[in-house]
Amino acid sequence: MICLKCEKNKFIEKKVKIEQEFREKKFIIISEAMVCLNCGQEFLNDEQANVLRKKTVDQYRLLNGLLTSVQIKSYRDNLKMSQATFADYLGVGVASVKRWETYFVQDKSQDDLLRIKCDPDFADINALEVRWALDQPDEYNGYKKFDIDVFRNVLIRILEVAPSPLFFFKAIFYIDFVHFKNFGKGITGMKYACLQYGPIPKDYEKLIKYAQVKGWVSKLSTHDLKANLNFDEKFFSTDEMTTIDSIYDIAKKKGRKFLFNRSHEEAAFKSCHFLDVLNYKDSKKIKLL
Ligand SMILES: [Zn+2]
Repeated sequence: MICLKCEKNKFIEKKVKIEQEFREKKFIIISEAMVCLNCGQEFLNDEQANVLRKKTVDQYRLLNGLLTSVQIKSYRDNLKMSQATFADYLGVGVASVKRWETYFVQDKSQDDLLRIKCDPDFADINALEVRWALDQPDEYNGYKKFDIDVFRNVLIRILEVAPSPLFFFKAIFYIDFVHFKNFGKGITGMKYACLQYGPIPKDYEKLIKYAQVKGWVSKLSTHDLKANLNFDEKFFSTDEMTTIDSIYDIAKKKGRKFLFNRSHEEAAFKSCHFLDVLNYKDSKKIKLL
């Protein structure tokens, strides 16, 4: 190998910063190159060029919220599948798998497919979102289609006074049922099931995971959560704010355990069968206020 600039032949392999352009975006990539000891000119051999190409594309994927080649390969490794088996599992051609594991950027729908088939948490979240999209107002959701923005903000508000799932779900249950009692409509659109812990959302574990994955909340201790976002009043009417504030105040003054205990005494809960979804019409018997 001879330096094309100074024609000397001594090189050292080292990491250098290289500016790369991919799909009209520029990146600085740190990668191995051969550097001329005499003039400092940098050259890439074939292997180094391949590594650089992969790093560049992965940087692009990272910045665009797509799985990197390494993540895709680790999905396949977790499943202990060959590229051919993995391709069958995904319902794509083996050439696609080979390309995604190297330099070919998967599009968003292919990225979703990979996650749904390989990441149980992502699959759970996807199932929740499908159910919310299919949701129609009825007596089991308080005549309100589930509203993710509203739920997020009610959760953020209530976490201030009830950071544990056992307690904040009771507070949100009361917010919905008390509001329905007074106005004939719930607030979040949440469905509550009759579980041993009282009236709580049927998918409560997945909801907590959802809030964590979306970055709304993070763990404060083993059970408790804290909000990472601020409460936004714009999603609520004056009446809704009054209901939320009234439950907030009860949780704050009487302690979060009060709502927990009281919820087990409510007729709507006592009359329901295990795993049944509570009917908002039973809110007329709510005793809390
Ligand atoms: Zn040189």
